[in-house]
Amino acid sequence: MTSVVVVGGGVIGLACGWELQRLGADVTLLERSAVGGGVSRGNTGWVVPSMASPLPAPGMVREGMRQLVTRGDAFVLRPSLDPSFVRWLWRFWRSSSSARFDAGVRALLALNRRTLELFDAYRDAGIRFEMHSTGLLIVARTLAGLHHYRDIFRRLRALGYEGGEPVELDGTRLAELEPALDSRNVEVGLHAPVDRYVRPEELMSGLADGLRAAGGHILEGREVSNMRSDTEGWTVATDAGGIRAEKVVVAAGLPSASLLRPFGFRVAVQPARGYSVTIPGKGTPPRHALYLAEAKLGLSPFASGVRIAGVFELGAAKAEAPAGAGKRLLAAARPYLAGWQPEADEPLATWAGLRPATADGLPLIGELPGNRGLFVAAGHGMLGVTLAPATAALLAPLVLEGRTTPELEPFAPGRN
Ligand SMILES: Cc1cc2nc3c(=O)[nH]c(=O)nc-3n(C[C@H](O)[C@H](O)[C@H](O)COP(=O)(O)OP(=O)(O)OC[C@H]3O[C@@H](n4cnc5c(N)ncnc54)[C@H](O)[C@@H]3O)c2cc1C
Repeated sequence: MTSVVVVGGGVIGLACGWELQRLGADVTLLERSAVGGGVSRGNTGWVVPSMASPLPAPGMVREGMRQLVTRGDAFVLRPSLDPSFVRWLWRFWRSSSSARFDAGVRALLALNRRTLELFDAYRDAGIRFEMHSTGLLIVARTLAGLHHYRDIFRRLRALGYEGGEPVELDGTRLAELEPALDSRNVEVGLHAPVDRYVRPEELMSGLADGLRAAGGHILEGREVSNMRSDTEGWTVATDAGGIRAEKVVVAAGLPSASLLRPFGFRVAVQPARGYSVTIPGKGTPPRHALYLAEAKLGLSPFASGVRIAGVFELGAAKAEAPAGAGKRLLAAARPYLAGWQPEADEPLATWAGLRPATADGLPLIGELPGNRGLFVAAGHGMLGVTLAPATAALLAPLVLEGRTTPELEPFAPGRN
């Protein structure tokens, strides 16, 4: 039985831990606070193979600049002269060429090929979590608001996406499909029926329960400070002593880069802060995951409240919501909604999380060059929930049997 330490109990670490244990490893997962307390917690939980594309896209830099000049709320850049931040921005700009974007889309399409099947396999294996299969509905107040998303769908299909065409909806059909919307303000929509959404907190507690039930160990309140290798394997140093293992998987989200720096890891990972509120309301809640195109907000109707989330704020280092952030989210969502409305203008609590964002928009999955037995699964940016099962399914055979697949090549942690 191969012993494996997984560092980090977010959606990526838990998916990797569960998959490794399922394949016969003896897994110990180390989490510095409580599992599921990082950026995986308050997100919208979308599982969206139909939209999986790298963030640096043709036109994205121009759109970012436009938002900065117009002081838009969706994209915020906190200026910094920190050399690593400037380098990250430069690489982001370089990655937004057509050719690189297309290569990134192809890589994500290949990674995502089994995503929906893998979520079903979780359920079949007894992992319990809230999951909805009503699809993703992108709605806009004018036809122009949909252009960008139509282009993305078209491009994904041209590059091999096999999940079917999104359905175009006019105002009348939208009102029938989604009575929570305000038909006076929302004119058009695109429905991608294959997409799903899950309650991320439940997915993580389900995976943690599954990992424990299968014989794995989860140690909370254990912060990993470093790792050391010798001829027999690895010693993982924590604030409560060292733990031995043959293999180590670092899935620590944003701090993964600093943990791996002593091992020659050079890829820059920057925090991209986002916010959410989860709120009960009046009326009939939406039936779909909704993307409000102009406001650039996601909305997920869960069993115990509707979650509204968004904002991509680069350069903010703390997972704390500034004053008024939740109120602004609600105010931006309101014009789209009529059949359902949040019960208050001001939420009781606003959640904030730091997405681990790579400059090329692709996650890091694989073995660290020159460090046998040391693996990384991090940098999933805006797509960690969608990509967690696929990341685990491809990484686990590599960790346990050295079995690599062409799908993993674009995500190699040795890239620059
Ligand atoms: C507003 C918002 C909406 C989003 N919506 C979606 C969505 O709808 N669909 C989607 O696919 N993605 C979405 N995302 C992105 C998604 O949340 C992330 O990609 C994903 O959660 C990253 O998971 P992770 O496990 O890498 O990181 P985390 O969840 O941050 O997990 C890392 C864990 O490692 C622990 N850790 C760190 N350092 C150490 C250490 N030294 N020792 C021990 N433990 C350590 C941390 O405490 C943490 O628990 C959204 C993000 C935001 C902010």
